[in-house]
Amino acid sequence: MEPKVYINGKLYPKEEAKVSVFDHGLLYGDGVFEGIRCYNGAVFKFSEHIDRLYDSAEAIDLEIGLTKDELKDAVLDTLKANNLNESYIRLVVTRGVGKLGLDPFNCDASQLIIITDTIQLYSKELYEKGLDTIIVHTIRNHPEALNPTVKSMNYLNNIMAKIECIKAGAAEGIMLNKDGYVAECTGDNIFIVKDNELFTPPVSAGILIGITRNVVIELAKEAGITVKEEQMIPDDLFNADECFLTGTAAEIIPVARIDGRKIATGNPGEITLSLLKKYQELTSAHSSV
Ligand code: PMP
Repeated sequence: MEPKVYINGKLYPKEEAKVSVFDHGLLYGDGVFEGIRCYNGAVFKFSEHIDRLYDSAEAIDLEIGLTKDELKDAVLDTLKANNLNESYIRLVVTRGVGKLGLDPFNCDASQLIIITDTIQLYSKELYEKGLDTIIVHTIRNHPEALNPTVKSMNYLNNIMAKIECIKAGAAEGIMLNKDGYVAECTGDNIFIVKDNELFTPPVSAGILIGITRNVVIELAKEAGITVKEEQMIPDDLFNADECFLTGTAAEIIPVARIDGRKIATGNPGEITLSLLKKYQELTSAHSSV
């Protein structure tokens, strides 16, 4: 069956799913997006992702044009049309078709795109061995310039960092903020374990508030692990007992090395593994919207 892509209320075969070259999403990266997972036919943390999409849209003064429930129905209809039980869903809302020139208010109406596909970011081997990462030179966007809590289509900051890490032969790049504190990776949040406590940078470090990050914090707290959202410097990472990354696509993936330095207690560490197991239990038990 040929995959179908939703654009503004209609489903198109993949080959025919196209947008205008005058869409400000293309011309200026003017839009917002979400990446969501569907496990066992149920969309994981659906409301949280939809809420973040609407918050992102509001932050850039973009009208989505559907209610949250209508948008959820459109996602479910697209999954159904594609007969997918396990899927990675990409929701994109662009500013829409306009004139050349920045003015977003010249655009007709926002465009909603729903792609349901599969994604495997990392091999099984890397979940067992951990990732090689580097700290990149590209600093994370200044929160008062383009706030990283907004999941906008303007991902050049992350892409510049990704280019650095790919050229260095690393799987992920750890980004610092303008003050030299650890922020997050190009497409994932970061955690470390030190003396059996879990640490992750606070939102004020200039990060995307990852849905997976929030789930992991909850799972750790439920397991009686102390979680601290604290500023970290690169030395804190080098001295960590364990380190892992979180994201919708990656879920929980251990980090083996940072800038060539091995993380202390072997990989993946005990707490990383226990959280990964709990996360997998949660997603596999997940069966309602
Ligand atoms: N940080 C960045 C920059 C991201 O793009 C993402 C999502 N790919 C994340 C963190 C993780 O967020 P989530 O857990 O909501 O997927």
